[in-house]
Amino acid sequence: MKRRVSIFGATGSIGESTLALLRLKPEVYEVVALTGGQNIDALAKAAREFHAEIAVTAYEDRLDDLKTALADSGIEAAAGAEAIDEAACRPADWIMSAIVGAAGLPPGLKALEQGTTLALANKESLVTAGPLLLDTARAHNATILPVDSEHSAIFQALNGEKMDAVERVIITASGGAFRDWPLKDIANATPEQAASHPNWDMGKRITIDSASMFNKALEVIETREFFGVEPDQIEVLIHPESLIHALVGFRDKGLLAHVGPHDMRHAIGFALGYPVRPDLPLERLDLAKIGQLTFKAPDLDRYPALTIARTVMEIRGLAGAAFNGAKEAALDGFLDGRIGFTDMAPIVTGVIEIMSREGLGNAAITLESVREADQMARRRAFESMAAQ
Ligand code: NDP
Ligand code: MG
Repeated sequence: MKRRVSIFGATGSIGESTLALLRLKPEVYEVVALTGGQNIDALAKAAREFHAEIAVTAYEDRLDDLKTALADSGIEAAAGAEAIDEAACRPADWIMSAIVGAAGLPPGLKALEQGTTLALANKESLVTAGPLLLDTARAHNATILPVDSEHSAIFQALNGEKMDAVERVIITASGGAFRDWPLKDIANATPEQAASHPNWDMGKRITIDSASMFNKALEVIETREFFGVEPDQIEVLIHPESLIHALVGFRDKGLLAHVGPHDMRHAIGFALGYPVRPDLPLERLDLAKIGQLTFKAPDLDRYPALTIARTVMEIRGLAGAAFNGAKEAALDGFLDGRIGFTDMAPIVTGVIEIMSREGLGNAAITLESVREADQMARRRAFESMAAQ
């Protein structure tokens, strides 16, 4: 019997890498649902190639375009957030969660409710609603496998280990586009400059979040939520070569590092094959040729987002949802030229401060409360940008 697979965010960078892996073994996989957003051509093309049951765009006003692109294919077409949720309820053995942003949470929860395996690239789900996601997985006997490269690396290093032997977890960061820029120049950086990553080829938003290290801030919180380690056990290390993705430090002071090419098909392939390690057509690292790996502590003046992550973990509750909502709004503001690159962090900090005074830390985490905190944070961030 074929393995039934769905991909949420199939037209994005992670989605395309996932499709590339399915393409290697078409006899093994049966594609159920593929979802996308504005890129209707890519969505329809993938749906036709993989004979998907259904293709869904997030945008209702694009439904006619999708229907036209799928004409005579026999593939169902649907649109809107509800249709994405419904697609996540279709029985599948393995579901990739690779929508960008807070929109990835609801279909991820629906997928878990069917007791499936969820390959989680959408780190925002864990940041905004970690306890809800993990409780839902437990209640429905579902499995979550990390796809973020650092978290896949931690997961792999922990294989066969006991959590009480773990002293610390170190996630690495390339340092992003502005790692070597003079601090004073970063304020004037353009979105194009921020969107060029030294090592990884990723979607535009996560690439800019790598330059600001908002991405690493999300990943620190993701580490805490997924692996249940305390904030003071999580460290960030700048590692410009991006070959070691994470290290786990044990009580006996040994470190287990995960080394691999900077290609997301490794982490996706690991999750797709789990628990069997698949053969992957990736670069075999020549360490003698690479010669040396370098490390340095992150400069918190250059990367204020790392300090914000600490604050969010102290407040807990809905702070993750507020953080992510404010960050997404600030990124929108930077992308459309309303604010500068270095304005993002103070705006996000301001939103978290205001909302924490309003009782953010004590609130229960439900889909509804997360949505409200997310919306409120976006509104506050927009107000703050308008006042700039
Ligand atoms: P992309 O921007 O490349 O792709 C995002 C996907 O989500 C696209 O399919 C897009 O559709 C779709 N989408 C956008 N907005 C919405 C919405 N409102 N509702 C539903 N779907 C939407 O992102 P990435 O692939 O880079 O990242 C996806 C997720 O994986 C993110 O959470 C990111 O943090 C995480 N991740 C990514 C890594 C990478 O290497 N790229 C590494 C580790 C984690 P369309 O393009 O058609 O508009
Ligand atoms: Mg990562």
